[in-house]
Amino acid sequence: MALREYRRKRDFARTPEPRGGRRRRRTREPVFVVQRHSARSLHFDFRLQHGSVLWSWAVPKGPSRDPRVKRLAVRTEDHPLAYARFAGVIPVGEYGAGKIAVWDRGTWRPCGDPELGLARGVLEFALDGEKLHGRWHLVRMRERRGSARESWLLFKGRDTDRCGTLPP
Ligand code: MN
Repeated sequence: MALREYRRKRDFARTPEPRGGRRRRRTREPVFVVQRHSARSLHFDFRLQHGSVLWSWAVPKGPSRDPRVKRLAVRTEDHPLAYARFAGVIPVGEYGAGKIAVWDRGTWRPCGDPELGLARGVLEFALDGEKLHGRWHLVRMRERRGSARESWLLFKGRDTDRCGTLPP
């Protein structure tokens, strides 16, 4: 209602001005996103906002909502926060060439200090997305000698769990 006049005066096909609208969620909770990435091999990129970056993992099989199923999650480089809204096609020949689609998005809430958790290799958190909800865990596996990348396991917790169910 408040924006009717603003919009009446503008053709948003021509002006780069924002159309505005869906009120920006003034939430303090950080966002998470899961992007389906049809690269050389299909995988899901799981990203958790921390400040202005997205902590990122590539999950070949994607998250499983079955608490008995642990999924390999290979840590990748932090991405800019704006990437949480990115969907499109990375051209052939570029890094990660292929189509990226947002598979799920929402907010996440860490149990305790997330930086400490990341450093210790035990992240407990709750997701509030469209597809993924409730309690989740990311746990770093013991490094194999000479492995360049960190391997983690991503799995669903029991929603009755409280913070601190995993040993530090
Ligand atoms: Mn990817």
